[in-house]
Amino acid sequence: MVRKEYVVEEVQKLMHNRENIRNIAIVAHVDHGKSTLADSLLAKAGLISPELAGKQRFMDFEEFEQAHGVTIKASNISLGFNRGGKDYLINLIDTPGHVDFGGHVTRAMRAVDGVILVVDAVEGVMPQTETVLRQAIKERAQPVVFINKVDRLINELKLGPEDMQARLVKAITRVNKLITQYAPPEFKESWQVSVENGRVAIGSAFHKWGISLPIMQKTGLTFKDIYNHCAAGTHKELCARAPVEDVILEMAVTHLPNPLTAQKYRIPVIWHGDKETDAGKSMLACDPKGKVCFVATAVIMDEHAGEVATGRLFSGTLKRGQELWLASQYHTEKIQQIAVYMGPDRILVDEVPAGNIAALVGVKGVFSGETISDGEIAAFEEIKHYSEPVVTKCVEAKDPKDLTKLVEVLRKMAKEDPTIRVELMPETGEHLVSGMGEYHLELIEYKISQEHGIKVETSPPIVVYKEAIENDAGPVEGKSPNKHNKFKVTVEPLEPGAYDVLVAGEVGSGRPKGKDHIEKLIAAGMPRDDAKGVRDVYLNNVLIDATKGVQYMNEVMELLIQGFEEAMKAGPLAYEKVSGVKVKVVDAALHEDAIHRGPAQILPAIRRPIYAALLTAGVYLLEPKQKFFVQTPQEFMASVINEVQGRRGQMLDMTQEEESTTVIAKVPVAETFGFANSLRGATQGRAIWYYENMGYEKLPAQLQDKVVRQIRERKGKKPEVPAPTEFME
Ligand code: GDP
Repeated sequence: MVRKEYVVEEVQKLMHNRENIRNIAIVAHVDHGKSTLADSLLAKAGLISPELAGKQRFMDFEEFEQAHGVTIKASNISLGFNRGGKDYLINLIDTPGHVDFGGHVTRAMRAVDGVILVVDAVEGVMPQTETVLRQAIKERAQPVVFINKVDRLINELKLGPEDMQARLVKAITRVNKLITQYAPPEFKESWQVSVENGRVAIGSAFHKWGISLPIMQKTGLTFKDIYNHCAAGTHKELCARAPVEDVILEMAVTHLPNPLTAQKYRIPVIWHGDKETDAGKSMLACDPKGKVCFVATAVIMDEHAGEVATGRLFSGTLKRGQELWLASQYHTEKIQQIAVYMGPDRILVDEVPAGNIAALVGVKGVFSGETISDGEIAAFEEIKHYSEPVVTKCVEAKDPKDLTKLVEVLRKMAKEDPTIRVELMPETGEHLVSGMGEYHLELIEYKISQEHGIKVETSPPIVVYKEAIENDAGPVEGKSPNKHNKFKVTVEPLEPGAYDVLVAGEVGSGRPKGKDHIEKLIAAGMPRDDAKGVRDVYLNNVLIDATKGVQYMNEVMELLIQGFEEAMKAGPLAYEKVSGVKVKVVDAALHEDAIHRGPAQILPAIRRPIYAALLTAGVYLLEPKQKFFVQTPQEFMASVINEVQGRRGQMLDMTQEEESTTVIAKVPVAETFGFANSLRGATQGRAIWYYENMGYEKLPAQLQDKVVRQIRERKGKKPEVPAPTEFME
């Protein structure tokens, strides 16, 4: 492999050679060495600095950092490199490691065709390894594996060569099991990784060396050499013969697909529009002459440039000044500037062809996941997050003067991280900020005060509950205030299979798109007539029109959907979001004159009977739960279990390895506040833990009334839950 310096013109040329492009991401459990590896790639790859871009000279990334006194944490980097006389372009997306930022990983997967899964040789496959691998596979990004920190097996754990090999085999076997479990049938076999097939490399990102079978063959290095060098601490020699970036890039180029190959199987999974249209054909062929179809996967607010939307261009050619359609905004925007990444810098260019990762600069109103195209096309599948916000805090500026600035900062943060939700309470002027855990919110608070200099006061964390039903109810009749319009409504719990399909994002929000979606719901257990009648999917609830031959029904449909969504957004019990409910309109009578069926008439006429029916069905609260993995020296195991049980926790599993025990437990989010501290106390600071959100379960019956009352009081509502009849007049 020849390391070579690339200039802007060359990179732009490489962008046209689709066979030699690889769009990839590095993913890992937190602390397994992702950033260290990314830095190695950056530092060694010969990168251009912004000031020198015009002069087309290269500068070492570390030099650049030192010269500017800043640390650049690249989120996207593009690297040119030469292998076997061929030039390749690697577009690499970096993804953060902490669980609370899982949303970023999910979105990044849409932009790439392959991932380098980094696994710590000592810890092995951890829960988050599994999560990121699952996310990658869901978006059809193919994995290869880098087992990192191999030096620690030898230098810290003092393992002999055989034990060391056994560890590595264990990790590889586990990854393959997960691939078998999560990959679709056509890839279960062909995506398996092994040392022999060259899709597993081992090494030390920290000491900057790595080997794989092809590199061993090329360099003559043996496993024994590796072992001896590590034991002797002569990492430099290893690094000189087998630099880690060579092994990684070699693996990416040889085993991960180029966009031409990948888009053929990825497009049908991530885009459910008609494949026979221009857009469909262009994307399947990754055609630079076809229709422009771009998905924004990350949006940041740049102080100087404004909104910068980075994403994947599946077809067409982006050109400066183009008018492009934003699917969620229903309008077109002129593309002010287009940029590509050269190393970690954004360099403005005039055009970018299909199959690359690019940034649109200064386009207003873009959201992560947004479909951007040359004329209207069916939007891409929603990018579903495995985790959703489960904890909320009220945030208020201490000094009223800072209020406008606070609003601005919150808006910016919510834009950059869609897993943050910000809501303004009009009655109190407070902002409710929701995130994926206590730690996520602490970080948001820290950023507001430290990075933006706004002093804020925050409430204790509040749990985000949901409302659900187990029984059917209705029909209940609702009348419009003018009594000229009537709807009969029933509610029932969604079929569990259909609910899972919605949660998995296989049928996105809004009206089901095409036959595909309807067939999916039927296959998941929804009766055919119901599935065909679905008019709206919202927060994992559906609205079904089951009326027959009612005049003007279509004309009020938009308002019905709006009223249904209002009811689902704030349920009748505690004004929390409703989940897993099937609302059916079974009959209706509408006034012939459109003037008598406006929003003020139709919205309450549908919302109120939905409320009455939910209350009749016995609506109750669901609470979010988290799965904790606590690793502790054996002697503290009993104290950890005690802590878990004292917090309504439920033990799921316990594994023992050498000196340490891992306790896996399910704990209600409501009981997790301060858990970190008490775990520290209980284990003299010796425990390490990790958690992930694991969905919602029914709040125990004895807590229902108490919690409902608390929420209602907090929200300024009367503490008693209304009777269904209150919504029936
Ligand atoms: P990330 O959270 O996955 O980005 O992990 P980092 O790259 O921040 O690495 C976590 C810690 O592991 C840091 O202290 C690194 O110095 C250390 N580390 C990373 N790679 C290696 C390695 O190959 N060997 C050893 N001994 N430590 C490593």
